[in-house]
Amino acid sequence: MTKVRTRFAPSPTGFLHLGGLRAALYGYLFAKKMNGDFILRIEDTDQERFVEGATEVIYDTLRDCGMNWDEGPDVGGDYGPYIQSQRKDTYLPYAQQLVESGHAYYCFCTKEELDERRAAAEAKGEVFKYDKHCMHLTKEEVQAKLDAGVPYVIRQNAPTEGETSYHDEVFGDMTFPNDVLDDMILIKQDGMPTYNFANVIDDHLMGITHVMRGMEYLSSTPKYNLLYNAFGWDIPTYIHMPPVMRDATHKLSKRDGDAYYSDFVNKGYLPEAIINYLALVGWNPGNDREFFTLEELVEAFDVGRINKSPGIFDVEKLTWFNWEYIRKMDFEKYLAMVTPWFDKVLSGKGFDYRRLAQLMQERTEVFNRVPDMVKFLGELPEYDIDLYTHKKMKTNPEVAKAALEMVKPVIEGIDNWTEETIHDVLMAAIAEAGLKNGAVLWPLRIAISGQASTPGGAIEIAWLLGKEETLRRLDAGLAKLS
Ligand code: GLU
Repeated sequence: MTKVRTRFAPSPTGFLHLGGLRAALYGYLFAKKMNGDFILRIEDTDQERFVEGATEVIYDTLRDCGMNWDEGPDVGGDYGPYIQSQRKDTYLPYAQQLVESGHAYYCFCTKEELDERRAAAEAKGEVFKYDKHCMHLTKEEVQAKLDAGVPYVIRQNAPTEGETSYHDEVFGDMTFPNDVLDDMILIKQDGMPTYNFANVIDDHLMGITHVMRGMEYLSSTPKYNLLYNAFGWDIPTYIHMPPVMRDATHKLSKRDGDAYYSDFVNKGYLPEAIINYLALVGWNPGNDREFFTLEELVEAFDVGRINKSPGIFDVEKLTWFNWEYIRKMDFEKYLAMVTPWFDKVLSGKGFDYRRLAQLMQERTEVFNRVPDMVKFLGELPEYDIDLYTHKKMKTNPEVAKAALEMVKPVIEGIDNWTEETIHDVLMAAIAEAGLKNGAVLWPLRIAISGQASTPGGAIEIAWLLGKEETLRRLDAGLAKLS
């Protein structure tokens, strides 16, 4: 059996869209599952859409996610170069071969002429399709224009009758009438191939066995198959994939900051959580298992389980995955990752990040939520005395005032400022006063944090703040309550 070879063929036009990343992921998983090769090819023949740095973003993203390619621009391979602009000279001879065999022709129509004919067609309520005008030029006429240096493109000579069918592994049997096919441009005026041409030539030359890409190419595929047939080449197996959407009617959007891999990484989502969840957007393992490492995904992957309908990317669900990954993360790694987020609000204030990280790890759903959760340590927020009211803890502002008055001298008396000592001394004092723990610890927590929900309780927070700051905040609380 021939070795499976899949490719991810992004155009370097900006950040990597989640839909693109998922296409890469499925291509990678399928290749690895079949002990095949995963190839990275950069499709940059549309120079107008090229964005500086976008190729590096693609490399970094795939590497970040652990999807290493077997062949590609920077790692090389037997079928390079893997950047299409560097293969520019490869394509023209193939197009000329098609001209020879009558499957393509030179077109010299200018933009103005085409615009005119398009406008005329639209005025008649017709969809403009190139009218094969230049196909009728004689060989001599063509040669004369070429000799005179008239700018040209090369177009496919698509049939106007009959239909073209092919099979797609996800969408099944597809049939398109040939009269909808336009004579697409294969070689542009600048000598570059179009995507439509280059993808066929390269997929063939690179020995791609399975073409996995977005379903927006389903309707162009008949045109590609006509090219394969014209060359007498084997048609690859097609695996088209539905898009990744926000919901049934909305795309993921750049403006809403939910379209790109980098949007999520910058917010503090983990690559492994993104990959795990993304794999399940549009594919399922056939059981209710949810957690997979990349290796486990390779093991479980099956093209037959790719969904035909759009995958819905639910940020809440991703957040849940992320939380689970963070909770299970090695503590030292967590500490290293959370430190810059602590620094955003606590930098230079001398807090014990290690202890704070211990208290925060369980509560961290996404790293960008961390600063808001810890900034109270740096500065006591404004708070309402209603926070002192807590039914279950049996406190209200009045009870709280008494509790804080009781606790203040106790804290003043603690010399050995460790969590253990603070705990033991406080508990003893509460017991001696005949009070309930909650009725004292709740008010204390409110007074020193200014908020109802905190990482750790009153004791941990007091320790982190230090004795002096704890007492300062206690006094402020008492002042508020008087
Ligand atoms: N360069 C194309 C794109 O980014 C790739 C499509 C394909 O995988 O063939 O849309």
